[in-house]
Amino acid sequence: MPYKQLLTFIIISLTLMGCSFNKETNKITNEQIIETTQSPSQTAINKEKLSQTTYRFDPQTSLIVPKDNSVSEKVVLLTFDDTPDGHAMEIAKALKERNVSAMFLVNGHFLETEEQKQIIKDIYNMGFMIGNHTYHHPYLNQLNKEQQREEIVPLNDIVEDITGERPTFFRPPFGVYDEITNEIVHQEGMHLMMWSFGYDWQADYQSPEKLTEITLNTPYLGNGSNILMHDRSWTAEAIGAIVDGLKEKGFQIVDPYSIEPYQNGGSQ
Ligand SMILES: [Zn+2]
Repeated sequence: MPYKQLLTFIIISLTLMGCSFNKETNKITNEQIIETTQSPSQTAINKEKLSQTTYRFDPQTSLIVPKDNSVSEKVVLLTFDDTPDGHAMEIAKALKERNVSAMFLVNGHFLETEEQKQIIKDIYNMGFMIGNHTYHHPYLNQLNKEQQREEIVPLNDIVEDITGERPTFFRPPFGVYDEITNEIVHQEGMHLMMWSFGYDWQADYQSPEKLTEITLNTPYLGNGSNILMHDRSWTAEAIGAIVDGLKEKGFQIVDPYSIEPYQNGGSQ
């Protein structure tokens, strides 16, 4: 009977529609579950950390100092310049094994291949901070304003492309800069950072034993020290012993993300 057939058709149609509705609902629910259980990106983790910093950068001394007495003043900051040049990942792994953080300051001329970019992306995703150390490592005071900008600003773009985050610390090569550098660096929302001491580029300390010995016993080691190291084989070999030694002396290794960024700090 036509009526019966129509009724059957309607019932079948409704059932099919119901099935497809259910499928659609399930699909959306699964997607929502995946989205909510996904771990947050490193960029999001860093953003969260930067919203509750406990230390500040002193622009006069480049030391790291507590914002209040809720945290220890016996800290040091570990920084690695001229990266990535062959040993950055080895250094990062040795630090990660000891559950400490650090800052890797990159040069643009070391970030021209996909492989080099991947190393920095991996180091960033391990929780380390990436800083700016210029594109070509020049003496900035020998460059005019436009040339200095070209050394600094495009590298921030490159790092942001790789990590999703613009650098907030800048260290001038050879510690040489002028007022133009200051202006550009601060316009870019970065701290201009020097260092407290460093030895790994000096001929006398280019072995893991000698570098460890001087780093742990130099009279310049103190509260808030900003320790300069480089992407070198002897530094990579020494870094584990250096961190262990610093901890034995009672120093904490400060997480760069616990230091107030320039734009929020009003330090200069
Ligand atoms: Zn350098």
